[in-house]
Amino acid sequence: MRKHVLILGAGFGGLELATRLSESYGDAVGVTLVDRNDSFYFGFSKLEVMLGRQSADDVQLPYRELAMDGVEFRQETVTGVDPITRRVTTDSSSYDPDFLVVALGADYDMGATPGFLEGGFEYYTLAGAERMRDALEAFDGGKVLLSVLGQPFKCPPAPFEAAFLLHEHFALQGIRESVHMTITFPMQRPVPVAAAVSQMFRDGLAERGIEERPQQLVTAIDPTTKEARLATGETLPYDLFVGIPVHRAPDPLPVSGLAVDGWVPVDQSNLRTQYPGVYAIGDVCTGARTVPKAGIFAEAAAHVVADDIAATISGGEPPGPYEGSGICYAEFGGGRVSKVVYSAPSK
Ligand SMILES: Cc1cc2nc3c(=O)[nH]c(=O)nc-3n(C[C@H](O)[C@H](O)[C@H](O)COP(=O)(O)OP(=O)(O)OC[C@H]3O[C@@H](n4cnc5c(N)ncnc54)[C@H](O)[C@@H]3O)c2cc1C
Repeated sequence: MRKHVLILGAGFGGLELATRLSESYGDAVGVTLVDRNDSFYFGFSKLEVMLGRQSADDVQLPYRELAMDGVEFRQETVTGVDPITRRVTTDSSSYDPDFLVVALGADYDMGATPGFLEGGFEYYTLAGAERMRDALEAFDGGKVLLSVLGQPFKCPPAPFEAAFLLHEHFALQGIRESVHMTITFPMQRPVPVAAAVSQMFRDGLAERGIEERPQQLVTAIDPTTKEARLATGETLPYDLFVGIPVHRAPDPLPVSGLAVDGWVPVDQSNLRTQYPGVYAIGDVCTGARTVPKAGIFAEAAAHVVADDIAATISGGEPPGPYEGSGICYAEFGGGRVSKVVYSAPSK
């Protein structure tokens, strides 16, 4: 009898897990993969859409084209998770799997920053990237304020990458001289994985004349006066406000008991939660070590979970521990790309 694995979320982690289970353990497991959307898209492709290099249609990869033996995709929204019984309810069904893997990623709390929904722009959603592309088309100069509105957030280099690419965009438009660019962020320094990495991003900002304001958190914006309020009480004027939204675990996790202090705690060596047969991978989880919220880490975690499930079924040796290491690339504009190799500190 094949065991039933239910994967919630067909993003980076969920897709990789389904692939690994299908390719390596198809005899032992049958997989149901659930996602509320009908297609997958890479995080970085939102930058392409924001800059008008690709359309939203170009970057979407429809799930109906998935062809994995033993994997059934269902487009449903997860509405309830009971981690003790492993019962999952969706808007149209319910499931009682042998193994449950939560790979629901991180959602955004756009309302957490007053004024942001009404007067700000973002490129962390596909719809937001399209709106920002339109705003950029109409923009002919002024103050651009790019702000990280909370921590943790997806892809540590992405705010700085956007700043570099916007600089290039304005230069290509011939308006860079009439644009003043500022980036605020709550961290002490950009991409704080290592001093040399931060310095590379700092140098990139300085070379492009982008004002850097570390340890500054924008708590609200006023779309009428076009001012952003900082936690210090200071205000910053803007003509175009671009925010990296506050992140949160997706519904229904906060009420399920799985998320504690915002995210789902796991044993980072094997991605197991405290509930038997229940795992969590990718952006949704947390643990003693800081693992960046990026697709490459979700993908690596998926491999460990597939192997751990297979070992549990067969009674074999468990896999080696999840390392939480990975490589991130960031575009600097002008055809230049940085490569950051992240090796997680040991526990
Ligand atoms: C602008 C930008 C650039 C990025 N660049 C990079 C990069 O260069 N390299 C990199 O490694 N990472 C990058 N990332 C980060 C990367 O996209 C995420 O870290 C990665 O997608 C996380 O994978 P995941 O499987 O945890 O979650 P996701 O890929 O977000 O998948 C979660 C899935 O769960 C689904 N879901 C959520 N709630 C429900 C529900 N209630 N019911 C049903 N389905 C639900 C969602 O629809 C989604 O498909 C970038 C992100 C952004 C925003």
